[in-house]
Amino acid sequence: MSPPAMVCHLCGRAAHQVCTVCGRPFCPGHGGLRLYCEGSGQGGHVVTRALCDDDTPNQWFLANRYLVLLPTVAAVALVINFGCIQPGKERRDREWHQKVQEQHRDHQEFRRRAAFDH
Ligand SMILES: [Zn+2]
Ligand SMILES: [Zn+2]
Repeated sequence: MSPPAMVCHLCGRAAHQVCTVCGRPFCPGHGGLRLYCEGSGQGGHVVTRALCDDDTPNQWFLANRYLVLLPTVAAVALVINFGCIQPGKERRDREWHQKVQEQHRDHQEFRRRAAFDH
């Protein structure tokens, strides 16, 4: 009285698991515990699920999603850095130069007046 043997829907051999997406059984050669992206956008997250080959997403991309995201984040950070912070820094530098020149002028004015007094 054993339950009917499951057979892989891809090759017809004895299956050991059932795909959690399509519900079809698969053998060790045509599926297994794999990364799967659940949800989408902000709510999306990667989980490990029993999947057949038909429903297996790109494992490399899911496993390396941070490696893929990192350069993107770095590029955005660079754009923000050059787009927003640098002009602000230039303005600060300009203001500082102006202040130094004003002080220099004041100093010259003081010296000229001191010379005039003598
Ligand atoms: Zn198979
Ligand atoms: Zn499947």
